[in-house]
Amino acid sequence: MQNFELTNKSSHGLVCPECGNTNLRATPLEGPDGERFVRVWCRDCDERGFFEITELPENADLEDWPAETVGTLQHEWREWHQWKNRHLHPPPRWPGPVERWLGRLLIAGILGVALLLVVDRIQLFGVILEDEIVRQQHIEDYRQQLLRAPCLSPALLRTLRNVPIRYTRERAVHGNFIQYGEAGVYWGEEQIKIHRSNFWFFGTPKTGQLVDTLIHEARHRTSPALGHSVRFHLLVNRDTECVLNQWE
Ligand SMILES: [Zn+2]
Ligand SMILES: [Zn+2]
Repeated sequence: MQNFELTNKSSHGLVCPECGNTNLRATPLEGPDGERFVRVWCRDCDERGFFEITELPENADLEDWPAETVGTLQHEWREWHQWKNRHLHPPPRWPGPVERWLGRLLIAGILGVALLLVVDRIQLFGVILEDEIVRQQHIEDYRQQLLRAPCLSPALLRTLRNVPIRYTRERAVHGNFIQYGEAGVYWGEEQIKIHRSNFWFFGTPKTGQLVDTLIHEARHRTSPALGHSVRFHLLVNRDTECVLNQWE
């Protein structure tokens, strides 16, 4: 095994990938089975490398090495240097803690919404949770508050006082429309029906919606000739707004 030292003082040839200087030492080595190696060392920053090369130049001066050999060595040293740095200073891992928490939050949100939808369906079939009596009581409370509000015409108040208002669990979706209530007047029913779409999942009334529905259906019964005309909506909106302004 031969072991001698090559030096390279000029800027020609090999460059240290760490500091860019050319003050290097290169030591060619020969293995027991004729493998050729070269050990390189930067005198300025102590960066080192050890590489197998196909051909060991005969002359001892690194400057006189074939450009191809120096180029290969330079390439391998640079690759090694980059690989080493990547593993010594790995980039921050993704996802980081914040992203991971955001992910969990998102999943929890999706599960929550899915659960509410399932509960909603279950309620529709009346298996659990939906308490019709409580909802009917809410409707009665709302009726009483509407009667007390100084907003509605005597005719509308008469309707609200005299017509039965019933909570119904009937399917409230017709085509693409959500149905909130039925006046009944157009097909001769002596009652107003209030659909479950006026309530939140667990039975709390959607205040604005339920007030609007009650006034809407009471107006149909009071002034059936108006239909869904512009005048009808003006009246309903005016009354609803007035009532909601002083809702307790
Ligand atoms: Zn260096
Ligand atoms: Zn209507």
